[in-house]
Amino acid sequence: MSGVDWDEDDPFEEQREEIENPMKRLFLEYGSNYTGAAIVGVIASFFARILDLLPALMLGVAIDAVIRQDVPYAEAFPVGGGLVGPYVPDGQMAQFWLTIGIIASAFLLSAGFHWTRNWGFNTFAQNVQHDVRTDTYDEMQRLDMGFFADKQTGEMMSILSNDVNRLEKFLNDGMNSLFRLLVMVVGIGGLLLAINWQLALVALLPVPLIAVFTSLFIRTIQPKYAEVRSTVGKVNSRLENNLGGIQVIKSSTTESYESDRVEDVSREYFDANWGAIRTRIKFFPGLRVLAGIGFVITFMVGGLWVTQGPPGPFTGDLSTGMFVVFILYTQRFIWPMAQFGQIINMYQRARASSERIFGLMDQPNRVGEEPDAPDLEVTEGRVEYDDVSFGYDAEPILEDIDFSLEGGETLALVGPTGAGKSTVLKLLLRMYDVDEGEIRVDSQRVQDVTLRSLRESLGYVSQDTFLFYGSVEENITYGTFDADREAVIEAAKMAEAHEFITNLPEGYDTEVGERGVKLSGGQRQRLSIARAILKDPDILVLDEATSDVDTETEMLIQRSIDDLAEDRTTFAIAHRLSTIKDADQVLVLEGGEIVERGTHEELLENGGLYSHLWGVQAGEIDELPQEFIERAQRRQARTEAGDD
Ligand code: ADP
Repeated sequence: MSGVDWDEDDPFEEQREEIENPMKRLFLEYGSNYTGAAIVGVIASFFARILDLLPALMLGVAIDAVIRQDVPYAEAFPVGGGLVGPYVPDGQMAQFWLTIGIIASAFLLSAGFHWTRNWGFNTFAQNVQHDVRTDTYDEMQRLDMGFFADKQTGEMMSILSNDVNRLEKFLNDGMNSLFRLLVMVVGIGGLLLAINWQLALVALLPVPLIAVFTSLFIRTIQPKYAEVRSTVGKVNSRLENNLGGIQVIKSSTTESYESDRVEDVSREYFDANWGAIRTRIKFFPGLRVLAGIGFVITFMVGGLWVTQGPPGPFTGDLSTGMFVVFILYTQRFIWPMAQFGQIINMYQRARASSERIFGLMDQPNRVGEEPDAPDLEVTEGRVEYDDVSFGYDAEPILEDIDFSLEGGETLALVGPTGAGKSTVLKLLLRMYDVDEGEIRVDSQRVQDVTLRSLRESLGYVSQDTFLFYGSVEENITYGTFDADREAVIEAAKMAEAHEFITNLPEGYDTEVGERGVKLSGGQRQRLSIARAILKDPDILVLDEATSDVDTETEMLIQRSIDDLAEDRTTFAIAHRLSTIKDADQVLVLEGGEIVERGTHEELLENGGLYSHLWGVQAGEIDELPQEFIERAQRRQARTEAGDD
């Protein structure tokens, strides 16, 4: 298994460690665009919560002033009595209806504020989430191919979906709960103290206990959650890998082996999750006990107070109505406190997610361009490789590749698998940058011009052709976009694709790609050639463009390719040497170096590697020199060793 390290949970670790204060960055870089919505949310949340407290208070006031008529109406309010004072009517029933009116208005107004609060927080959260998602995607797309070869796709998908979604949870639910908590704690705490500070101290007694209990809980559960996240990553990687390799699994009948492996990682996830659940399900009952103790004590002290006067060390009065308010508020005070743990949890998850998101965003791009880079201007299409050396990592893959190709000429790259032929072409496309030497197109260094202009000038047809979800036509016009149907058909005809396309259920409108009609490798290649034909590039780059089509179709396509290559600079890698016989230059690569160069005829005469390869393809296996066979065996052994 090459490249994928199953034990490495965190391929972005290094980058992530450099991210300081990701939440601050999230709010400053993304949140600041939606400050208005956030402020509306906060203000509405404040009023909504305050209004939510009013009905319970009014109940207390009504008991004391309307039902028992112990105190005048305005004086029954622990705070703010002065505000209603001037409007209080005389008479028990009038005051009763006033109370009903205030309670009903509080509910109505509060509903309005709740709506506004939800609107504000959701607008904020959804917009930030959307911006973060699109920016992360843009940044990821900009990264060089080296990055994509190193990182697991699953990990990137998980950042783009899970992590981005997790932000929303905190930005919406988390912030919402946080403000509720603040208003409840400050509002209720203040009211209780205003009603009767002595009983308030009794009612608030469990609060420090709850705080200690909650923080203990958070400290215990956090490493368990980390474990859950890490094991879920393993499960995803395993599933992704197996889905991708399902054909191999079936053909090598390793289903039960793979089932066991999936069961192992799933069991790890189960165990980790169960560990977290065990802690979590103890938390709420524990909290209930603490809250219950507070309730019982408050009920006891308050009840004695109301019935028999201040108990023990307590002094002063407590009315029945205010006792009821105390009991109601104490209940509503404890639960938001309990949520504190969840808020911290959401915050920390959001923090970890932002760290992962910014870690991806901050990945340095090894293939970039200067801000004021000019566009490439292709005049003749002359391409030069000047002593180019390159390695994907430390190990050198290409050494001293040096050649020049005049505009309009065709250059063929030949050599055994792994010789570095594709790599030569990828450097021209700047999928990677050279380590030494330079590549020039019409005397402009490829590193000096904009990537866009460079890649627009090149038509690249590779051996593995990827189709996007969409119709056949959309796949052919991909990158050109504005071509009309006639031009598409013309290109498809040249690529020998028209006939099979018209045989598809809906012709050019047939959906292809993973969810659409399945096309064979050869058919996909022909679509890809049609795409290149339509693009009409200055330079054509064919990396085994016809490797998957049968010899007959290849011959037909070859005619079109010859037409296409006629007046334009063309690079071609082909296994079937007959297709590149007419190339102006043939470079024979072996082990990353050019070992022979010349035209087909010259190379045949030379009697070197090319002539032997030609011999193999012409079926003259018996006539090959022993030395050639031994070299091939050595190469084979090297390639296999490299694959392990
Ligand atoms: P060819 O096209 O001649 O078959 P390539 O250019 O594809 O050869 O590969 C040359 C060498 O570079 C091979 O040894 C291959 O294993 C290695 N190689 C190709 N792509 C990568 C990559 N993305 N990362 C690391 N090594 C690579």
